[in-house]
Amino acid sequence: MQQTVGVFVRRCAAVAGGKHAYRGCGSREWLMLRQLHRLAQPTLGNQNPRQQNRLFATLASKAKKEKQKNAAAAAGDKAASDGQASKAAVELKDAPEYIEHRMKIYDELMAQYKEELEKKEKKPIKVTLPDGKQVDGLSWQTTPYDVAKGISQGLADNTVISRVNNELWDLDRPLEGDCKLQLLKFDDPEAQAVFWHSSAHILGEAMEKRYGGHLCYGPPIENGFYYDMFLEGSGISNQDYGALESEVKRIVKEKQPFERLEMKKADLLRMFEYNQFKVRILNEKVTTDTTTVYRCGPLIDLCRGPHVRNTGKVKALKVVKNSATYWEGKADAETLQRVYGISFPDPKQLKEWERIQEEAAKRDHRKLGKEQELFFFHELSPGSCFFQPKGAHIYNTLMDFIRGEYRKRGFQEVISPNIYNAKLWQTSGHWQHYAENMFSFESEKETFALKPMNCPGHCLMFDHRNRSWRELPLRMADFGVLHRNELSGALTGLTRVRRFQQDDAHIFCMPEQIRSEITGCLDFLRHVYTVFGFTFNLVLSTRPEKYLGEIEVWNEAEKALAESLDKFGEPWKENPGDGAFYGPKIDITIMDALKRNHQCATIQLDFQLPIRFNLNYVDDNGEKKRPVIIHRAVLGSVERMIAILTENYAGKWPFWLSPRQVMVVPVGPAYDDYADKVRQRLHDAGFMAEADLDAGDTMNKKIRNAQLAQFNFILVVGEKERSSETVNVRTRDNKVHGEVSVDDLLTKLSKLRDEYARGEDHDIHYGLRFGGIGRMSCELLLVQQLPAAIYVNTDQLVDMKRFHKINSYVPLYVDVEKPTGKAEPFTVYLYESVRREINITLPIHFRYHDPSVRKFERIQVESPTLYVRCSNVHASKYPLRTVGKATLPCSDSSEIEDYDKLHLAELCEWDEMEFNNLPTVISVLIPVGNSASYGFVLPATILVSWIGSMYLIYVILKVGRKVNKKLL
Ligand SMILES: [Zn+2]
Ligand SMILES: [Zn+2]
Repeated sequence: MQQTVGVFVRRCAAVAGGKHAYRGCGSREWLMLRQLHRLAQPTLGNQNPRQQNRLFATLASKAKKEKQKNAAAAAGDKAASDGQASKAAVELKDAPEYIEHRMKIYDELMAQYKEELEKKEKKPIKVTLPDGKQVDGLSWQTTPYDVAKGISQGLADNTVISRVNNELWDLDRPLEGDCKLQLLKFDDPEAQAVFWHSSAHILGEAMEKRYGGHLCYGPPIENGFYYDMFLEGSGISNQDYGALESEVKRIVKEKQPFERLEMKKADLLRMFEYNQFKVRILNEKVTTDTTTVYRCGPLIDLCRGPHVRNTGKVKALKVVKNSATYWEGKADAETLQRVYGISFPDPKQLKEWERIQEEAAKRDHRKLGKEQELFFFHELSPGSCFFQPKGAHIYNTLMDFIRGEYRKRGFQEVISPNIYNAKLWQTSGHWQHYAENMFSFESEKETFALKPMNCPGHCLMFDHRNRSWRELPLRMADFGVLHRNELSGALTGLTRVRRFQQDDAHIFCMPEQIRSEITGCLDFLRHVYTVFGFTFNLVLSTRPEKYLGEIEVWNEAEKALAESLDKFGEPWKENPGDGAFYGPKIDITIMDALKRNHQCATIQLDFQLPIRFNLNYVDDNGEKKRPVIIHRAVLGSVERMIAILTENYAGKWPFWLSPRQVMVVPVGPAYDDYADKVRQRLHDAGFMAEADLDAGDTMNKKIRNAQLAQFNFILVVGEKERSSETVNVRTRDNKVHGEVSVDDLLTKLSKLRDEYARGEDHDIHYGLRFGGIGRMSCELLLVQQLPAAIYVNTDQLVDMKRFHKINSYVPLYVDVEKPTGKAEPFTVYLYESVRREINITLPIHFRYHDPSVRKFERIQVESPTLYVRCSNVHASKYPLRTVGKATLPCSDSSEIEDYDKLHLAELCEWDEMEFNNLPTVISVLIPVGNSASYGFVLPATILVSWIGSMYLIYVILKVGRKVNKKLL
């Protein structure tokens, strides 16, 4: 499998592996440069992007030809009853012969190995666990699984793979000496890759059984895995999926152990002589004398491992799709059949995954973009998007948002050319590494190219005149249009395009300014992502093996980056050796509403470009010095960000970004004039307002249409409203806010827009940080009392659980229609497992208040109570400071799913925790209308999204934090 085959495939697998999304298969650094400016388009499969582009293009044309051929075949042979492509593979009656051949060699060598293992001297060893605890063992005998089992059977069962001295290690592989041991569960990205890689073997075994072809590569990818098989002259049909899956079920049921065996290359060539592809891998990729094979059941596969213990660990596996591909992505090589799958340790997780896939399909930006008339593509300009007026509004609003920040943060916008002489690209180095991705052409016997990035142009601007240290840092921002020549077959919606713009900026600064500039960049991106509602992860990538420049400069810069990150206060990780050759960088991954990760922002130091362009500034001693360039973007490609935001919001745009903010609906044609007058006032105030004056529809139909079109607010106007210059406000979620004067509405909407309020709903944010938890497994229960004036929608709790925003909850019976006076206060229980950082956002809603003479109603939200329960804990090491004990429903009690049975729920002992930095009471003024004009609750929105964000920062062990950065 892929891990055996040396550099090429291992790197490629890493591309798809998600965690090292930057690692390319080709020229890695240039990929990085490209990523920096393109900002990480997900890489499919295991080819490098260029190869892949070619692949897609050729596949597309091939598919077309095949389609025509099939159509012809179908027309010619209508009697074919199954309707499938005529070349679909036939199931094998008997097992392919090579299975016995492989097994014979394997059995002999395995017996030898076991003998040798017996002979190894079993010495006492010390196994050190992440919390510092040491366990005794015997070399060549004790396995990581034994150690896990010694701690608890549950831990042993849930561990997917171990890491021994930073090397992934099979759970059943004997330890060879004193070592550090980590046990990784499925939630660890590396464990996930191992799990999916193991699943690929299972799929491979099933494919051999069913088709008898020759297996090629079977790596894990970002979501799941695939296996390629060479099937002489036949294909695979989606009608085979069921049969493959039942084969898989049998394999899983048999709990076939994954056995590891190290073998000599000569033996391997003999073992795989039947399979020209494995022979090629052995001859071309394996440079060592020995390598490993793994066996599960009848399948023996060339593979470096590691794997899960046995096939029984893969409790749920689904075949997702299949396609045709080429050996190593080369269009002139053999055609292979690729089958994709996804798998999980728990069938429930597969169900969740399927649900999220469905949800993702509903939110697909290409679908919503068409429905909402935001943008489209045309075959006459592949990869260059046409933004219709509504889409252009979103595009411009995003840029205006960033422009506003530029002003506040000392960036200066510049406008630079699109076309440059190739000489510029030769100086910058792009011509040598990137020319094939650029659109170039001849003019007056010179070669020119459209810019794929702004930096070289900015270097010319910096170099335009002498620069003094007083001018630094010089922050140059540019929304310039960029072009990259992606092959048309690789283009997908707004996520992979040829024409795009970025919120690109280059900071030219002195080395000693790096620290403060990075801090500024980090603050910038936090601000933007908070407005969008994204959480994010930070990774520092440091000096690679092949780097340019002086090591002291690198060390100093890396130190500066690490310190800025520490100061920033958000958790971050280090990815040693993953920086570009020209400088270290910080990669930022955002997480959307479906918990999908997207790489958008980047902060990249560059020591090389200033050298290539010979940039200087004069320091305060009058000496010439070299500046450092920081490339940075927050949105990344605006096009791609629009795709992410469309899917994140599912087309329900927040007010400030919405291309459909207000729809005015007259109750009848007599009020058309007034409706249009209101629309005009809103329009003049800069809002995206429309009036539905279609005589053919009823008022109710119009309201419904406006809600379906995702207008944030719908203003209904009739006689009463016209005579008092008011409107009647309701939202797209059909919440009626009531009557409000047009003047007040304008003020409120302006505020809503200018504060980038996310919507007309309100959230309470709980941000909890834990340190010093080590290897314990703890659960958390947050009990929030809410007054009658606020309610929580049970459907939203269901969604929170579904999208893994909480582990569990106690369902509530909340009558959302009841006004405050008739409703009761109630309690929300939120269960979560304790991680280093937990962010829970609880959406709350305000009830209508009965009209009263008072203008405001004061609502108080008490702070929640936090309970924690830990297992795997030694009393002496219990690191939590508790303030008391309480008996409350256990999180795994099935009765908590049903409010009526809550009293039957199993009860657990919980420790009550103390908060730091927590306001005890949040007080909100809810304006209520007097009896004459009905209440308009919108101001509460602003107030609450503003005041109502509670940040509970809870650091159990402040010192523990740093240590745990590595452990957790
Ligand atoms: Zn493997
Ligand atoms: Zn740049």
